[in-house]
Amino acid sequence: MAQRLIVVGGDAAGMAAASQARRRRDRSDLEIVAFERGRFTSYSACGIPYWISGLVPERDQLVARDPATFRADFDIDVRLRHEVTAIDLDRQEVVAHDLDGGGEVRERFDELVYATGAVPKQPDWADPAVRGVFGVQTLGDASALREWLDAEPAPRRAVVVGGGYIGVEMAEALIQRGLAVTLVEQADQPMSTVDPDMAALVADAMRGIGIDIRTGVEVTGLDGRDGRVSAVVTADGPLPADVVVLGLGVRPDTALAEAAGLPVGLSGGIRVDRRMRVPGVPGVWAAGDCVETLHRVSGLPVHVPLGTHANKQGRVAGINIGGGYATFPGVIGTAVTKVCELEVGRTGLRERDAAASGFEFVSVRAESTNRAGYYPGARTMTVKLIAERSSGRLLGAQIVGWSEAAKRIDTLAVALWNGMTVDEMTALDLGYAPPYAPVWDPVLIAARKAVDALHQG
Ligand SMILES: Cc1cc2nc3c(=O)[nH]c(=O)nc-3n(C[C@H](O)[C@H](O)[C@H](O)COP(=O)(O)OP(=O)(O)OC[C@H]3O[C@@H](n4cnc5c(N)ncnc54)[C@H](O)[C@@H]3O)c2cc1C
Repeated sequence: MAQRLIVVGGDAAGMAAASQARRRRDRSDLEIVAFERGRFTSYSACGIPYWISGLVPERDQLVARDPATFRADFDIDVRLRHEVTAIDLDRQEVVAHDLDGGGEVRERFDELVYATGAVPKQPDWADPAVRGVFGVQTLGDASALREWLDAEPAPRRAVVVGGGYIGVEMAEALIQRGLAVTLVEQADQPMSTVDPDMAALVADAMRGIGIDIRTGVEVTGLDGRDGRVSAVVTADGPLPADVVVLGLGVRPDTALAEAAGLPVGLSGGIRVDRRMRVPGVPGVWAAGDCVETLHRVSGLPVHVPLGTHANKQGRVAGINIGGGYATFPGVIGTAVTKVCELEVGRTGLRERDAAASGFEFVSVRAESTNRAGYYPGARTMTVKLIAERSSGRLLGAQIVGWSEAAKRIDTLAVALWNGMTVDEMTALDLGYAPPYAPVWDPVLIAARKAVDALHQG
C-alpha cells in the first residue's frame, strides 16, 4: 500500500517539500495531500509590495503554481480552504476543517510536513469595528488591501505602522500609487536589521522620496468615521489616514504544533535537525517560517522568516522524505531590499549582535561609488564591515547605495559563510570595468579599511 504524506500549509516550504518528495517517489509509493487554508498555493508573498504598487500588473503573476498544476504535473492532491485544526501523533492523523463547505475531514499520514509559516504580530489597539487596516502576510491579505485602495472614495493618506523591511517596501508601494505616506516606527530607526548609522541613510532616502517617517513614536489607537479609519492615534498626536498597513513583524506559527506536542526552541520556532526532521517525532518534518534554525556566526538558534530559507528547507525535507539525503546548514541572515532606488543589503551580525554574542570587534564604514567615478551613473555606496578583533574574521556586513548595491552583499555573504578574514578579502579577485565598479570595488575598499582598523587597535 502507498504511504501518505500530509502537508500542512501550501506555500513556499510546504509545496517545495511536496514537489521534491514527488520527484523521487511516484503515486504508487507515496500519496501526497496538501492542506492550505487560503485560496492560493505557492504564491510569492515577497512580490506583494510590487503588485500593490502596480509594478506587477496581475495578482496571478505572483502565483508560481496553482492547485491544478500541482494535480496535473505532480499528482499532489491540494485542498484549498482547508484548515488543519488538530494533529494526532499517536493515531498519525490530521483533522482539517473545510472553511467553505463546512464539515471536517480526517486524513491518516505516514509522513507529515508542518509548514504553517508565521503569524503577523497584531497590535493591541486593533479595532475590528474600524475598517481600512490591513496586514500583508498573505495574498489574501494583499487582495483585501488592493480592493480598498481601488474602491471609491480612493484613499489619499496612508499610515504604515512598523519600519521593518515589509513596512519600508509597503511605504514605497503606496507612495508609488500616489498616496501621501507616513511611516510610524516605535524604535529610533527604521530597518532594525541594520545598524543605526546605516538605517539613518535609509531614513534620509525615504524622506527624500516624500515618505514622512516618525521614529520613536508609539501608536496607541485608531480613530474612525462611519466605520472607516480616519486617523492613527499616537503619543505625538493623530496622523490622518484613509488606509493603514501593518508591518509589525511576525512570530512562528506553532500553535497547532505545540498542541500536538512538537518541540519549540528558544527562538519560538519549531526545533528541527539538519534534515528538517522534528527531533524525537519520527515521520514529522517542519520547514519555513515556523521553524528555528542555526545562525552560523553566533551559533544561536534564530528565527529568520525569509522565503529564501523556506524554499531551501522545504526542498531539503522533500528530498529526505523522497529517500534522498539533504541537509540545511543554517543561515547567516543575508537579506536585501530597496526603497525606490536606494538598495539595502545585510548579512551576518550587526554591531549589537556581535556584542551580545561576546565578540570583540572592529567596525568600519567606507564610502565609494558603484562604478568608476567618471562613468555615467556613478553613485554613492556605503559599505560597513564588522570583523572580529583577534582573528580579523568577517562577522557582518551591510551595504546601502543607490545602484548595484544590494546584490554586492552576496560577495560579502560568501566571504562570511566561508570564514574569510578581512585581510584575505582585500585580495579577492573581483571583476572590474568602469561601468560596473571603480578599480577598487567598494567591497575591497571596505575590507582594506577594516584591516587598517585592526592594525590600529
Ligand atoms: C510582504 C512580504 C514581503 C516579503 N519579501 C521577502 C523577500 O523579499 N525575500 C524573502 O526572502 N522573504 C520575503 N518575505 C518572507 C517570505 O514570504 C516568507 O518567508 C515565506 O513565504 C515563508 O514561506 P512558508 O511556506 O514558511 O510560510 P507561508 O508563506 O506563510 O505559508 C504558510 C501557509 O500555510 C497556511 N497555513 C497556516 N496554517 C494552516 C493550517 N492550520 N491549515 C492549513 N493551512 C495553513 C497559510 O495559509 C500559508 O499559506 C516576504 C513576506 C511578506 C509578507
